[in-house]
Amino acid sequence: MASGAIWWIRRDMRLDDNPAAQRAMRAVAMIPLYVHSPSEEGAWPLGGAQKWWLARGLKVFAASLAANGSRLVVLEGEHAKVIVDLARSVGATEVCWTRRLDPAGIAQEHRVEEALDKAGISWSSSLSNHLVDPDDIVTQTGNPYQVYTPFAKNLRARGKPSPPKPSPSKSVRLDVLPSVTGAPAGVAIETLGLEPSRNWADGFQAMWTPGEAGAQQRLALFVESGLAHYPSGRDEPAADGSSLLAPHLAFGEIGIRRIWHAAANSKSAPPESIDKFHAELLWREFATHVLFHFKHTDLKPLRAEYAKFPWRDDQAALIAWQRGRTGYPLVDAGMRQLWQTGWMHNRVRMVAASFLVKHLLLPWQDGARWFWDTLVDADLANNSLGWQWAAGCGADAAPYFRIFNPTMQAEKFDGEAAYIKRWVPELAGLPAKQAISPWNAPLLWRDSAPLTLGEAYPPPVVDHVFARQRALAALTSVSRSAAK
Ligand SMILES: Cc1cc2nc3c(=O)[nH]c(=O)nc-3n(C[C@H](O)[C@H](O)[C@H](O)COP(=O)(O)OP(=O)(O)OC[C@H]3O[C@@H](n4cnc5c(N)ncnc54)[C@H](O)[C@@H]3O)c2cc1C
Repeated sequence: MASGAIWWIRRDMRLDDNPAAQRAMRAVAMIPLYVHSPSEEGAWPLGGAQKWWLARGLKVFAASLAANGSRLVVLEGEHAKVIVDLARSVGATEVCWTRRLDPAGIAQEHRVEEALDKAGISWSSSLSNHLVDPDDIVTQTGNPYQVYTPFAKNLRARGKPSPPKPSPSKSVRLDVLPSVTGAPAGVAIETLGLEPSRNWADGFQAMWTPGEAGAQQRLALFVESGLAHYPSGRDEPAADGSSLLAPHLAFGEIGIRRIWHAAANSKSAPPESIDKFHAELLWREFATHVLFHFKHTDLKPLRAEYAKFPWRDDQAALIAWQRGRTGYPLVDAGMRQLWQTGWMHNRVRMVAASFLVKHLLLPWQDGARWFWDTLVDADLANNSLGWQWAAGCGADAAPYFRIFNPTMQAEKFDGEAAYIKRWVPELAGLPAKQAISPWNAPLLWRDSAPLTLGEAYPPPVVDHVFARQRALAALTSVSRSAAK
């Protein structure tokens, strides 16, 4: 047993089902440490929406540790140096952490491991944010998977994930572990520069409760009232039918095994609903697996021939898309939901992403960067997979020639235009059919005054039939050059 341990907190801001925390708590004394080091996040330092989340998540977590008689120490600087210096100054003999599986997280912990080895301090890392180590699951030929279905089949064949372990603070109170003498005061969370400079995140407050308790409540609510209808609910943007657990998962405020088993143990949801929900959790595992093995896929296509895709450069079109002013109501509703809440419904993410890459012919990396900055659930693996899926250039991607028609998608999944009307209020007064395709509405109205389409809401930024032909022609040019 270590005399003093450091629990290096990363994307695992929870006490429940956290082997790293549990191991550190076996020491005579333990310091929970968070190191703020944006420069070690490679090309993907936290975006604005996740900074908003982290500012709150850290405070809630610090309060929960304090309630258990412990104290979160927040320090700034390069991880390896900060951790070794702290361990030396307080005489800690072990450092424990939860593994990250994204390229920057892996590089970070390799540097820490090396520095600790050099300093003669022992360390232990555990995998609790994912169900499987990406190195432990391979195809029959011993290669990483690039197709979801056989990956998921293999993973399911291993049986149920082991059950989650409850927070030790319930059985072993943290306050019986005295604070290591000499633990530094650390810096205040308010000084980390996480708050947005503009008030763009005002709408987040109403929707989200960052922190472990918020995550547990969200899970309980979903299992009680959302899970049973998940297969259909998750596809209706107006239904709020998905779990909304993604940002909590992104920060490790809840463990994946806790979620898996809570769904599996539901008494009210039919097996097919549980199965569908589990399948989505396995998409997350798959995305992590792909990025782990193909580290370049955050910025480069998995299918190399797409590196030559003739993307356009059109700043005005990119801005219209970002601001939800493309003139296609479902796309615009999604982009405005994203801006106002930090989240977008999965079906609409697919439509909005497809619109950017196929209708506007703009690079998927531009979309991925925008999502990264604006999503509270930004996750490099899920985001890269989602964007490469939309662009047709990634693992198990939609074929490029399959081009979503945003109007037909709205008719199918938002037939009453309830979602569109919620996020595009200019169209709220129209009958559903016209709200879905406002170019068919004779006049729009604002404050009882009649307005033409262009005055009230933008006309389509590009014609669907034209855009479709243009995208197919671009694809043909890629296929031809690949065949040469
Ligand atoms: C272009 C694009 C970008 C995306 N970017 C992200 C991202 O940055 N972060 C992110 O977490 N998800 C991303 N997704 C996947 C998906 O849209 C979100 O995980 C989901 O909408 C989150 O809401 P939820 O928690 O209510 O999901 P639920 O439907 O309740 O699903 C439960 C969990 O399963 C996982 N999951 C669900 N769908 C997917 C999927 N398609 N791929 C991988 N994991 C999935 C998530 O962890 C999610 O929290 C993206 C999808 C697309 C098409």
